[in-house]
Amino acid sequence: MNDRPLRILFVASECAPWVKTGGLADVVAALPPALAAAGLDVRVCLPYYRSLRAEVGEAPPVATVVGALVRKARLPSGIIAYLIDAPWLFGRDGGPYQDADGRDWPDNAQRFGLFAHAAAILASGETPLLWRPDIFHGHDWQAGLGPLWLKTSLPKAAPSVMTIHNLAFQGLFPAETVEALRLPPEVFAVEGAEFYGRLSFLKAGLHYADILTTVSPTYAQEIQGEAWGCGLHGLLTRRRDELTGIVNGIDDRVWNPATDPLIPSRYDRDRLAAKAANKEALQRRFDLVVDPSRPLFAMVGRLTWQKGIDLIAEVADRLVSAGGQLVVLGTGERGLEDTLRALTQRHRGAVSVRIGFDEALAHEIEAGADIFLMPSRFEPCGLNQMYSQRYGTPPVAHATGGLADTIDGVGEGGCEGSGFLFKEATGAGLWEAIERALDAYRTPVCWQRVMETGMRKDFSWAASAARYRALYHSLIPDGNQRALT
Ligand code: ADP
Repeated sequence: MNDRPLRILFVASECAPWVKTGGLADVVAALPPALAAAGLDVRVCLPYYRSLRAEVGEAPPVATVVGALVRKARLPSGIIAYLIDAPWLFGRDGGPYQDADGRDWPDNAQRFGLFAHAAAILASGETPLLWRPDIFHGHDWQAGLGPLWLKTSLPKAAPSVMTIHNLAFQGLFPAETVEALRLPPEVFAVEGAEFYGRLSFLKAGLHYADILTTVSPTYAQEIQGEAWGCGLHGLLTRRRDELTGIVNGIDDRVWNPATDPLIPSRYDRDRLAAKAANKEALQRRFDLVVDPSRPLFAMVGRLTWQKGIDLIAEVADRLVSAGGQLVVLGTGERGLEDTLRALTQRHRGAVSVRIGFDEALAHEIEAGADIFLMPSRFEPCGLNQMYSQRYGTPPVAHATGGLADTIDGVGEGGCEGSGFLFKEATGAGLWEAIERALDAYRTPVCWQRVMETGMRKDFSWAASAARYRALYHSLIPDGNQRALT
């Protein structure tokens, strides 16, 4: 039986296009088909939220676990999904974690406790399904109790992998939750799932899983330090030999300037001149002075402290004095939105901001801008810097996390590289990199080289899928007996 494909069960609370609040949903949607293309048999386990019913209808039930129905459906990619249907936990209007007013659901411990338990059973000898995975792959805190159940309580348990997409969200609940969820009492220990007197779902995953991953090699290093370790740096440092950083890919069918239906003028490396029409359209759309010679800077994303929006505001005056223009698209903290609006008032025709979420406009910005700004203080992986390189819009970015790993920094006075990195997340650090970018921009041969270097880079999922595949195989060496079912 060892020649059948390795079976992987993805366990996550989000998967695009069915349910999405962030990048996790994109990874859970895109990585399984990439793994399938690499010869693995991957299925996804998700909660059956009420909103999913509208997407998939009454998917047929195939089994019952811990009192919940397991329904089976197919994602648009063709990947099979097992949906854990517990109507008393997931059959309600609102978001996956919060109600319509943005308050966390008070029973999130029960909701994701049951979900992870059910998924763990599916990856054990107790599964009622014929398809039994060789590996349980959990994502973020919502899946965190899965590895705990597998390690402590279930027979013939599959080994497990936990992926951290965002260490800042940990799923912390009162100590009584241990009893309420009928977890083995001994797991409530520092060498277990306890985090300063509370139960941490994420820590449970990170303690009990066999292998840990996060979404870039540099972030894997950073979270072992106190600054970005969110209190878990000790555990992550102890487990550093089992912790791997693998960068996310991008969907290069959606993000491809040669075929993108959302941009006014399509272009490619050998048709770079056609990018200019996108710049002109963007300047018009944002009420900026239409001038092909003025370097147009852009930023798209959440307007938060993490993303370094205050640093952009700090350098905006200088950027305009240097002849630059700036467009920003995003939503987030009210104070930062106000700061950006004030800049628009002060620099009419040179700075313009749109508050809102607009996927189509994000494409137009990637295509129309000259230089993309990403001064994130921390960035587990980040997507926009990859889109911008693909679109010949070199990024200026803080050398952190996935930004450091996916951008080849151009050195002082040079043209070799795909973007401009700076080390200190300060206004001065950002400005120094912007000046380097402007120098290169004003030397057309050099600028074209930087653009082309970025456009040539491979950000497809295939390379990352190969790395996950190698990790799975390290858990189940060839020749070992796999589950026969
Ligand atoms: P994070 O997950 O931390 O928000 P990422 O860069 O990993 O940051 O992914 C965010 C994604 O959401 C990117 O594809 C970005 O373009 C998109 N995005 C964020 N804000 C907006 C917005 N206001 N309008 C359109 N797209 C947005």
